[in-house]
Amino acid sequence: MGRFALPLPLHQGFDYRVPASLDLQPGMRCRLPFGSGFRTGILLEWVDNETGRGDLKAVEARLDEEPLLSEHMLELARWVADYYLQPIGELLFLFLPRALRRGQPLKDQRVTCWRPRDADEDMLDNLARRAPKQQALYLSLLDHPEGMTAQALRELHGDWRAAMGGLVDKGLAESHCGDGLDWPEQPPDFPPLTADQQAAVEAISSRLDGFGSHLLQGVTGSGKTEVYLALMRRVIEQGRQVILLAPEIGLTPQLVDRMRRRLGRPVLLSHSAQGDAERLRNWDLFRRGRAPVLIGTRSALFSDCPDLGLIVVDEEHDASYRQQDGVRYHARDVAIRRAQQLDIPVILGSATPSSETLYNLRRPHAHRYWLRQRVGGGQPPAIELVDSGRIQPVCGCTPQLLKAVERHLHDGGQVLLFLNRRGFAPVVMCHECGWQAQCHQCDARMTLHQSIQRLICHHCGSQQAMPAACPKCGHGEIRHYGVGTEQLEVFLRERFAEYPVIRVDRDTVTARESLAQRLQSLHQGKPAILVGTQMLAKGHDYPHISLVGILDADQALFSSFYRASERLIQTVLQVSGRAGRADRPGQALLQTAFPEHPLMQGLKTQDYDRLMQPILQERELLGFPPAARAVTLQVDALELKAALHRLQQLNEELERAGLPSGVRRVGPIPALMTRRIGRYRAQLTLLAADVATLRKALRPLLPKLLQPRNRRDSRLTIEVDPLDL
Ligand SMILES: [Zn+2]
Ligand SMILES: [Zn+2]
Repeated sequence: MGRFALPLPLHQGFDYRVPASLDLQPGMRCRLPFGSGFRTGILLEWVDNETGRGDLKAVEARLDEEPLLSEHMLELARWVADYYLQPIGELLFLFLPRALRRGQPLKDQRVTCWRPRDADEDMLDNLARRAPKQQALYLSLLDHPEGMTAQALRELHGDWRAAMGGLVDKGLAESHCGDGLDWPEQPPDFPPLTADQQAAVEAISSRLDGFGSHLLQGVTGSGKTEVYLALMRRVIEQGRQVILLAPEIGLTPQLVDRMRRRLGRPVLLSHSAQGDAERLRNWDLFRRGRAPVLIGTRSALFSDCPDLGLIVVDEEHDASYRQQDGVRYHARDVAIRRAQQLDIPVILGSATPSSETLYNLRRPHAHRYWLRQRVGGGQPPAIELVDSGRIQPVCGCTPQLLKAVERHLHDGGQVLLFLNRRGFAPVVMCHECGWQAQCHQCDARMTLHQSIQRLICHHCGSQQAMPAACPKCGHGEIRHYGVGTEQLEVFLRERFAEYPVIRVDRDTVTARESLAQRLQSLHQGKPAILVGTQMLAKGHDYPHISLVGILDADQALFSSFYRASERLIQTVLQVSGRAGRADRPGQALLQTAFPEHPLMQGLKTQDYDRLMQPILQERELLGFPPAARAVTLQVDALELKAALHRLQQLNEELERAGLPSGVRRVGPIPALMTRRIGRYRAQLTLLAADVATLRKALRPLLPKLLQPRNRRDSRLTIEVDPLDL
């Protein structure tokens, strides 16, 4: 009989009798009788019918001609499900593009393409004189001898069909069925590498034929991408394929275009904003080995291919690699696992590697390479601390910062101001009675968004109108406090009226394209001010920025989030690293009310490893990740009492079974933000030095954890290696 994965939040597989006539193989989809209807399932493996059950239902139909997932992908899914304690069925269906999850057949994904045919001089002369539109089309086709798709033709020529009809009639073009891949027009170019880049390429090249975890630690602007590209080229030349993961926001059309030009090969893209059809097509092309490179976000890692030779995880410290809802996993860690399974290298790139990656350097197979110089010379700017505690800042800016902004703009530079808080003001309150605008669903304040005159909760998205009078005492004077990016933008527009101000945050940037468009005007290099949140710290080049100002770094000093210092260091170095280049040294100003704080003093050195050393020591001392491993059991319920009670029961069960030595428990306690989206949350965290000990501790609970019997009034979720504790 066969064991199948179904897209259900359950951890077990489902067994069915498989008629021999079906000729089924693991990785194929089937139509299975389930309950009173039918579901799509994927055959995981063959199992013996040891119980001799005769009442097993039989598979209704086979849906695929060939397995959609290879043995290797099934094995990876089993590992992820087992390690992260996530339901195998839901997980495995993430390995398929949406279009295939509901059971539609996988159609031939080839598309109609047009390619040029030979023409003689006379015909070309004729075209040039009589049909300029056809001539333009023909010249495009010559640039794409493998053929162009309707979409590519439309993008270049608008209404192209009539002209193409003319070319086909003249025998100058023909249509055929092809992959429709976008091949670059020019042969690849090879920019010279710096000494550091060259050294890294050579060292990793010598280790391309086996598993290794290679940390490429390079300051901002040191050209990590060129190192990836040089290594990708070598892997591709061996006929193998590459997956490159990038954080959601770092995934720009420019990156894809640059990769394609450098490699001289088609590059496929995979991200959540794509349409179903496009995603399916790219998934299938990669699976069939038709294109050598797939670039994508987190879930692109679950793409199958015939001969994967390398995985690259760019900006490996980025928190977006952690899937925070639904099926939970960490894409960087799964990437390392997949590389290990296939015995291929994985490259982790970052200017500010995560504490996990630094800690893992002590493992066998871990290597590190440095890129210490910026391409084109120059140094990252020195970080200067500006004491914001003595003088009342104006709209979050000290006089010293404003003076620097003015000077840089005057000297023709661009300025980047970083403030990790969107909206107009984070606090809205009554001056008379002290009433504060709170979200009615979360333990959180509402943020004022003045342009739309609304209060928005940044945790659940709920909105309400800005009240005209205090809802509690009726007083007419409602005030706002604190500064968000929206307010900063308004202030800067007034103060520096002659310069453009561009704001980049989740309110102004909705799609990938629009971020590129927003930044477009910066490329000309004219003086301008860029204001924004975390989005600015990720993977974009701003070659003309000469001043970076970081407005409010102090939040991190008082955060109860144990990674707050690590995040602060990463953000400050990432953001300040965007300033300056060889011919125009940059300046970075960090405003803090605590300039004597050791962390702030440390930031001036910009020595990332030295900054991280005390943090890693502290984690080791406290027994926190990455020096320990953690599992968090979280319950969210309609009442806090219910959430705590359910965890208490699990806790007692753990105690009855006897906790192995070396396991520590924190909780059950209410979560940091106890009420979120109308539900109360509590958690119980287990910590131990290694995964094996944790698993041993959890074993008596596994049946309960894996079949959680969740109902609306109480839901249990499990986080292995949670980012927060
Ligand atoms: Zn009031
Ligand atoms: Zn809320």
